[in-house]
Amino acid sequence: MFSKILIANRGEIALRIIRACRELGIRTVAVYSQADRNSLHVRFADEAVCIGPAASADSYLNILAIISAAEITDIEAIHPGYGFLAENPHFAEICESCKVIFIGPTPENIRLMGDKMAARSTMHKAGLPIVPGSVSAIKNKEEALKTAKSIGYPVIIKAVAGGGGKGMRICHNDLTLASNIMTARSEAEANFGNPNIYIEKYIERPRHIEVQIIKDKFGHILQLGERDCSIQRRHQKLLEESPSMVVDSKMRKKLGEMVLKGMKSINYASCGTMEFLLDVKTNNFYFIEMNTRIQVEHPVTEMVTGIDLIKEQLRVAAGEKLRIQQDQIQIKGAAIECRINAEDPDNNFMPSPGKIETLILPGGPNVRLDTHIYAGYEIPPYYDSLIAKLIVWGNNRQEAIKVMHRALSEFHIAPIKTTIPFHLKLMENPLFLKGDISTHFVGDILKNETKEE
Ligand code: ADP
Repeated sequence: MFSKILIANRGEIALRIIRACRELGIRTVAVYSQADRNSLHVRFADEAVCIGPAASADSYLNILAIISAAEITDIEAIHPGYGFLAENPHFAEICESCKVIFIGPTPENIRLMGDKMAARSTMHKAGLPIVPGSVSAIKNKEEALKTAKSIGYPVIIKAVAGGGGKGMRICHNDLTLASNIMTARSEAEANFGNPNIYIEKYIERPRHIEVQIIKDKFGHILQLGERDCSIQRRHQKLLEESPSMVVDSKMRKKLGEMVLKGMKSINYASCGTMEFLLDVKTNNFYFIEMNTRIQVEHPVTEMVTGIDLIKEQLRVAAGEKLRIQQDQIQIKGAAIECRINAEDPDNNFMPSPGKIETLILPGGPNVRLDTHIYAGYEIPPYYDSLIAKLIVWGNNRQEAIKVMHRALSEFHIAPIKTTIPFHLKLMENPLFLKGDISTHFVGDILKNETKEE
């Protein structure tokens, strides 16, 4: 195992990694921007190095500064967390060439799965169903119209290098497709540095179902069940749960087999998530993408399996064998995670940075809170708005919802606005309680609220 690692991230995930390291006896080095000087990850790590000014480009994305910090602190490995450099193959390559272990898969894996078209065709070749659509990047209007004709409307335009739910466009006819294609290309270039786009059939009201995997360097794979992440706003997840209410044991078996088949087809060693859309009309799963990092929502899987994913990820990166067998994995009860963002749900989820004057934290049985905030903490405006993850467990979904409702009602952050009131309403929503949800659910309830006003 490693004796000292650097964490190239901030916020709750930096704390999560520090905690796992402490328990494993690994020393930690935090890096921080000038805006994060008073952050808990700086305080909790064994050492801390300032890597630049507030802007991410000058600090958390500044490869040179991070590698210099690694050199002066003499670490063996770098954990990238999620976001920032976690899925940057160039960074993973630089780590390799500096003889530092990148805690994640190989640069080749990251590059392959980071190209969504390449990921689609790799998994298709492995025998997984994919959403019908392009076989190569779309260069012009004519190609787009031809593809749409062959799969039928509606279609969705996606960036090959896309992520974070950004830059997707839904088109219902030739006219909207033709007028969107060139803008989508230039937007993809501006946002992701790659103009390539592709088209997929747009599945109406699907559920987002994903499977957590971990694979070691000896080819041993574990799949840790599914997460249902259908509660999204503008294609970004707000709440995740495990298991999914709509996945029965037969579907779960089929999904698990698909995931193992896909994972065996690539030479991969780390944590990862295979994402699928479930067409509830046909009960068919379609692979959409693979994330080659630890995800924000990993705690729901930890709660139902009892496996510490960060510790396993560290062990795999250090070259250790996975010690658990697939048949030892049991999904126990139900877990839910609510993303608490510093955003105003009553004002189109506008970011709400600023100083936290009052903070009352939830607690009690079956409640886990992953957060870096404290009373007096000033939420900087420069980074993503996630300030806490509230995760709960229950013997079943209904019980987990009750625990979540209770925990949310204890949670008080002022004066900044957060998504807590939004989640509280969700816990009382009859359709959510029944599990009658899709990726359109949040959009629909927000639309209804505006109509009622
Ligand atoms: P990103 O990497 O930007 O998060 P994904 O491909 O993972 O993009 O998709 C994010 C979300 O967008 C999905 O969870 C789903 O809500 C929606 N989506 C993506 N592809 C489709 C599709 N073909 N049909 C319907 N919804 C889709």
